[in-house]
Amino acid sequence: MLYFSKSIKLIRHQQNTSMSSVNLRSFKKKVFARKRKMKLALSRWEKKPPQGLDKLASVSEKEVWTETDCTTCANCCRKMTPTFKEKDIRRIAPHFDMTPKAFKEKWLFKDGDGDWLNTSNPCQFLDLKTNMCSIYEIRPTDCAEFPHLSKKKFVEYVDTHKQNLEYCPATFKLVEKMMDRLSDAG
Ligand code: SF4
Ligand code: SF4
Repeated sequence: MLYFSKSIKLIRHQQNTSMSSVNLRSFKKKVFARKRKMKLALSRWEKKPPQGLDKLASVSEKEVWTETDCTTCANCCRKMTPTFKEKDIRRIAPHFDMTPKAFKEKWLFKDGDGDWLNTSNPCQFLDLKTNMCSIYEIRPTDCAEFPHLSKKKFVEYVDTHKQNLEYCPATFKLVEKMMDRLSDAG
């Protein structure tokens, strides 16, 4: 099971005119061609962070979100699972007239770390016709924070980015931009 990450996000960025639709087919091809070099670059940055890495991540993230329309993607909701905290479950379950216990029994399982995760993909709350989250306003915090591009110190999220760049076009784009700016061709 692929985690959003142990405490991640999913920002459904609103569409604006400069955004382009996500083409998951061409994204998969790019991932296949570049993922190894991108992961090696991330490992290098983790071992020896280039000067200004956090600032670079922040600047690059702003660009990523002017170019990426999550509403045309939703790959995270299809391929990964958020972690449901007890607080999330207590908030979402009443929306379905369910107790937290019944909610867990219907949709979740507890993994080896004691985290509550979706039993299956795509997420049961993804509207497959509209590509939108049907519980957006009350979605898990993990969803609201995904994919943690420059929220914390970049090196603390290297492992998360290594996983997510294969599934999240925004993460892929972030690492790509940072490699370009650091002239890090891998
Ligand atoms: S709860 Fe909503 S945002 Fe979170 S994975 Fe499911 S569909 Fe996506
Ligand atoms: S996978 Fe990444 S780009 Fe796609 S919807 Fe999720 S956060 Fe947005």
